[in-house]
Formats: sequence, C-alpha cells, structure tokens
Amino acid sequence: MNKVIIIGSGPAGHTAAIYAARANLKPVMFEGMVKGGIPGGQLMITTEVENYPGFPDGIKGPELMELFKKQSERFGTEIHSADVDEVDLSKRPFRVVSEGQEHFAHSLIIATGAQAKWIGLESETALRNRGVSACATCDGFFFRGQDVCIVGGGDTAMEEANYLSGMAKTVTVIHRRDSLRASKIMQDRALNNPKIKFFWNKEVIEVLDPAAGTVNALRLRDTVTGEVTLHPTQGLFIAIGHYPNTEIFNGQLTLDENGYIVTKPGTTQTSVEGVYAAGDVQDHVYRQAITAAGTGCAAAIEVERWLAAGGLH
Ligand code: NAP
Repeated sequence: MNKVIIIGSGPAGHTAAIYAARANLKPVMFEGMVKGGIPGGQLMITTEVENYPGFPDGIKGPELMELFKKQSERFGTEIHSADVDEVDLSKRPFRVVSEGQEHFAHSLIIATGAQAKWIGLESETALRNRGVSACATCDGFFFRGQDVCIVGGGDTAMEEANYLSGMAKTVTVIHRRDSLRASKIMQDRALNNPKIKFFWNKEVIEVLDPAAGTVNALRLRDTVTGEVTLHPTQGLFIAIGHYPNTEIFNGQLTLDENGYIVTKPGTTQTSVEGVYAAGDVQDHVYRQAITAAGTGCAAAIEVERWLAAGGLH
C-alpha cells in the first residue's frame, strides 16, 4: 500500500515528488504517464528555457528535467519508467494498473500534462524549435524585431499574437476561415493592434526550409480558391489548441468541455476526494513550467494534510 502515487514526470509531477518525499510520504511515480504523454513532459521537446527562475543563463529543457528527476530521486522517490494504462478511482485505496501490474495508494496526484496540437506537416516537425513553436510566452523572445506568423483563430492565437506584437516586428495571423473563434474582447484587441495583420481563408501547407534548418517562408493555400502563395517569415507559432492527457480518467473525474481536469478553485483537489491534479492537465491558462511546478508543490502539501487528517500518514 502506497501513501501517494504520482502519475506524470514533468515539472508538476517532480515538484510534487520532491515535496511528498521530503514529507516522508515515500511517493511512487509513474513517469511514462499515459498515452500521448512524454516522460519529462513538454520541456523534453523544448530547447532553450530562459524563463525558469534560478537559471540566469537559460537551460535546455531536457537538462532542466534531468535536474528535477535527480532531486526527486535524492529524496527517495520510487520512479517507474512505465505508462499507466488504467486507474480505478471509484473506491479507496485507488488502483493504478501499469504494464499489467496493480498498484494501490491512499491518494493520487495526477500530473499527466497536456500537449500542443500541431498541423501535422513533415516540414513543421522538422523545424520545431528551429523557428516553429507552440508557445509564444516561451519562445517569443527569440524573435525580437523579426516577422512572425501565427496559425489559429481561437483565444490562444489572439492572446499569443498580442503577446508577440510586443517584441516582433510584424505578426501575421493565418486563419483557415474568414471569421475568428476567439471571444469578442480578444478578437477586438488583436484586430485593433496595428502590428497584427490577418490572412483569412489560408492554411499552411509547407514550412520552408528544412534543408536550411531554419524558417524563412510559408507555403500557403487559399481554402476558398485553392491558390498557393509563398509568404516570407522568420518564425511560425502554432496556436490551434492543446490536448490534456486525461483519457484514462474520463468518466471517473469531472473534466471540463475541453477535457481538462476540474479542480476546486484555489486548490488542486479534483472531484474525487484523495485525488489531486497539478500542472497543465488542469491548467489551460498559464501552461508554464513554473506554474506547473507551483501547483505540484501545492498538491503534495494538500495530500500530506489530507493523509494526516485521515490518520493515513
Ligand atoms: P480553440 O478555441 O479550439 O481554437 C483553435 C483554433 O485553431 C480555431 O480557430 C481552429 O479553427 C484552429 N484550428 C484547429 N485545428 C487547425 C488546423 N489543423 N489547422 C489550422 N487551424 C486549426 O483553442 P484555443 O484557442 O487554444 O482555446 C482553447 C480554450 O481555452 C477555449 O475555450 C478558449 O476560450 C480558452 N482560452 C481562453 C483564454 C482567455 O480567455 N484568456 C486564452 C486562451 C484560451 P476553426 O475556428 O476553423 O475551427
């Protein structure tokens, strides 16, 4: 019987592990997460991280995650490099199935993260982190004074376009239809921003130039006329939504309409007592490594208090 099982190994999972281990909860972590998740989380596919406090010269995403993991292990976290295939949250202790083996715990911390949606072009994949990004807050700074494009017509795209307009020379929003999905206020802000231009009814069909290892243009297709054009740019931001990794919790926890775990405001408590959620799996607003780490810490502290109150610690 475990006191706490942590599912996920990004900044939220490891911060929860560090706090839980130091509170003597002997946490067990499944770092393989769930289908679609990446051990170490989204920082594993990020090159330079310049906004994580404590690293004034920046650090590579995978290096930062290695340090997180070392710190979890230092305090005795038991880490399983395996996926969780199934959970049963209907009764306590909670049951977690991984690679055919059952594990039981009084409490769970879910930190399975979310992943950005990509258009799905080969050239887009080839140029990820080399001019193609899914996070303006993370990577906008690298495009100071340059011309950038952003794909999407939702709130994220509008928010990121506004953010980028503060540093890029020009921002072009490329949207596949002629009207935006974003809320009126976010639309107005972007439409009234003189640095933001809109390309309507356009889709990106190729990012150039993988051979050069950098972005210098986009091949666009008009979704109405089919006309193909070339648009020079130095950066491409994809803002077409995220998938939270919550498939295995579906029907067992309250999720919002986009599949994110709903937590009680101001806490990391989910709809099931004893189950806590931290990081991007419950946050579609901030989505930063530092905010994920913050909620991971909160989850561990809440678990510790809940176990103690129930005489389980
Ligand atoms: P979203 O609302 O689902 O919008 C995704 C956008 O990307 C849509 O405009 C969609 O086009 C486009 N798109 C989807 N797949 C595409 C593809 N393969 N190629 C080209 N375009 C594609 O996602 P989101 O903007 O990330 O927002 C998610 C949720 O978070 C929403 O509920 C949003 O309100 C909320 N949010 C709120 C705030 C805020 O209030 N500050 C900020 C960010 C997000 P179509 O319109 O044609 O479908």
